Amino acid sequence: MELDKQVCIVTGGSRGIGRAVCLTLAAKGATVIACARTEPKLTELAAEAKERELAGTIVPRTLDVTDRAAIDDLVNDVAEKYERLDVLVNNAGITKDGLLASMEDDDFDTVIDANLRAVFRLSRAASKHMMRARKGRIINISSVAGVMGNPGQCNYSASKAGVIGFTKSVAKELARRNITCNAVAPGFIETDMTDVLPEKVREGVKPLIPLRRFGTCDEIASVVAFLAGDGASYINGQVLVVDGGLYM
Ligand code: NDP
Repeated sequence: MELDKQVCIVTGGSRGIGRAVCLTLAAKGATVIACARTEPKLTELAAEAKERELAGTIVPRTLDVTDRAAIDDLVNDVAEKYERLDVLVNNAGITKDGLLASMEDDDFDTVIDANLRAVFRLSRAASKHMMRARKGRIINISSVAGVMGNPGQCNYSASKAGVIGFTKSVAKELARRNITCNAVAPGFIETDMTDVLPEKVREGVKPLIPLRRFGTCDEIASVVAFLAGDGASYINGQVLVVDGGLYM
């Protein structure tokens, strides 16, 4: 198995893209620490991995990525318990959409906290262990909104563009320790996050996507698994846009 014995932390593992990432990494043999705020969904996910007899395991851990102390505790616990930390997938993310003129400070700050500051804190904590091991992969989930912008999402787009700048700097900084850092920028993917979009918006977007459909969580998870695997050992500081051709 490609990811046999590897230990991975995935944030936002309870639903959507993160859930698919956890299952895909576990199917490749990894021990996956699935983190989110909602414990029951994580426990169900761990049970599903067991039921499906995946080669690896999913270990549920509650974590609010905006809680700085909890991040350090979790990352240090994992590294101590398993004596390694191979992959960090920064996937947890939120939206609080609104037009610039009427956006509250709080809506801007909350999104930056969860989508960008958390990526910094988790990567900082994980990198200490990876540097010691001289091996690691950091994979950040950005968004096409961070590449091309999106009206009504200035907070979200800023956070996701920030993730891209962060990814490139970390990629340059940690490469000499054999740690790579890459980003995946999904387009419109079928999850709770896009379910809340009005039908008019969903249907209005589809003609702009050359493949004429939203993507699936598995179509993002397979790219994350590729970046975590042997085949991506020479890919560093890149943004893989996975959007059916929306941005090109
Ligand atoms: P969902 O809303 O379906 O799931 C979000 C996940 O993040 C959940 O597991 C949620 O768990 C977790 N989460 C949210 N806030 C926190 C927090 N403070 N601490 C810990 N976990 C948290 O989102 P998607 O699966 O759609 O999105 C996943 C990532 O992909 C996000 O970063 C998103 O921005 C990005 N993305 C998604 C796109 C899409 O079209 N769906 C397009 C481009 C990028 P819980 O609530 O239990 O904490």
